[in-house]
Amino acid sequence: RPALLWFRQDLRLADNPALAAARKTGLPVIPVYVFDDSLAHPPGAAARWWLHHSLEALSAELEKLGAKLILRRGSAAEIIPGLVEETNAAHVFWNRRYFPGHIETDKKLKSELTEAGVTVETFNGALLREPWELKTGSGGPYRVFTPFWKALKQAGPARADTEANPRKLETKKAKLKSDSLKDWALLPQEPNWAEGFEPLWTPGEAGARERLRDFLNDIIQDYKDGRDRPDKDYTSRLSPHLAFGEISPLQIWRATQAKISKGDISDSAADKFLSELCWREFCYCLLFYNEGLPEAPLREEFSDYPWRDDARELAAWRKGETGYPIVDAGMRQLWRTGWMHNRVRMIVASFLIKDLLIRWQDGEAWFWDTLLDADLANNSSGWQWVAGCGADAAPYFRIFNPVTQGEKFDPDGAYVREFVPELKEMPAKHIHAPWKAPDDVLDKAGVKLGKSYPHPIVDHAAARKRALEGYEKIKRA
Ligand code: FAD
Repeated sequence: RPALLWFRQDLRLADNPALAAARKTGLPVIPVYVFDDSLAHPPGAAARWWLHHSLEALSAELEKLGAKLILRRGSAAEIIPGLVEETNAAHVFWNRRYFPGHIETDKKLKSELTEAGVTVETFNGALLREPWELKTGSGGPYRVFTPFWKALKQAGPARADTEANPRKLETKKAKLKSDSLKDWALLPQEPNWAEGFEPLWTPGEAGARERLRDFLNDIIQDYKDGRDRPDKDYTSRLSPHLAFGEISPLQIWRATQAKISKGDISDSAADKFLSELCWREFCYCLLFYNEGLPEAPLREEFSDYPWRDDARELAAWRKGETGYPIVDAGMRQLWRTGWMHNRVRMIVASFLIKDLLIRWQDGEAWFWDTLLDADLANNSSGWQWVAGCGADAAPYFRIFNPVTQGEKFDPDGAYVREFVPELKEMPAKHIHAPWKAPDDVLDKAGVKLGKSYPHPIVDHAAARKRALEGYEKIKRA
């Protein structure tokens, strides 16, 4: 009797504990992926593009081992038991997922299969520590990052890695029906808005490994001081690979530690990077203990915040036509490349929430649809953090000034020039506030405000005041 290996957010062969355990049984293994968009929070459009390519890559890797990845679309709660019956499988293996809705589905499935006499084994393939493993002194989950990070660093990862790529996989030769990826239509039709993704990203395990290697060899030394500069390439860009489980945080942790041991990188450079990696762990903990995180503010008083509904301004924000160059560059980077630099994510989120007073959930939904790395835990925590209503969040009254943020983190304007070509000829001194530039500077740069590039859609100083008044209202209430 064979074993089913159910791939989910762990689209890799190396350091895959479910795969390692399935191999260990010595039984023929049937790998399967179910595209289940009946679950809450199905992948957005950009993530579907990634998923298509990632599954293609996984399929090819499995083929090299002589295994065929079985693809099925529909409710996993029905498809997995159906496949167990069809194949007479004795075991089912998977790595755990942590999103609301997924946990319940998996628990129910596990108990039903177990009752039917099937052995189900589940593993941690996505986190350094399970959300329930790290507790504060009083026994509750952490809600503040720094003590969480200290505890995680001290405890270290929970397991040894199952690093090596398997060379062989016993497989079942039975003929099983499989969808073709094309049937799922995950890629955009005309127009192909994902054209800009292709030269930048290599979905799949090999692409993830290469990115980690390049980052550790050439970039990590600049990470600590340079990670806030969107005009430079000083972060790892591993986020989509992590979101799809093409690489595990444990592989990243171990590879970084190995570099330190060899004396290739300094402790402090590595520390900053690993602490950011552990923000991801922290976000997973927050989501695990607060299922409503994607929808409702953790700090309840924010439910009564006087938000505005303004479809025109929301559309200007999405398109990168707010008249604030750093905001527009970020939103266009997102659209063109499927990714946005972390500093700019904070700036554009702050702009939507505090300058436009539009609900953070609207921004979160746009990110969900357009980010290749869309991750329910990181995205909802990120938005709540900026909105000041999450755990360990930025205080609400700290409102980013989009001009000074631009001047500080994109001092030469190179980032703006790359994504807002209308401002390509603007000198650095005026590029972050073109409406303040003298007419002759605008003329020389070929910028016609209101025509070639928009006037600011709000006045930041007035908007800031309005946001603070809203905050005072909920504080008083
Ligand atoms: P690096 O700096 O190289 O960090 C390495 C890894 O650590 C990242 O890939 C990521 O997995 C993790 N990480 C780093 N910073 C954070 C952080 N602040 N929170 C959680 N994990 C972090 N990240 C996502 O992966 N998916 C999202 O949907 C997402 N939405 C966000 C929304 C907002 C409003 C904000 C402010 C942040 C969001 N982030 C999200 C976090 C962060 O911006 C990205 O993880 C990071 O920019 C990815 O680039 P990188 O891989 O080069 O990061």
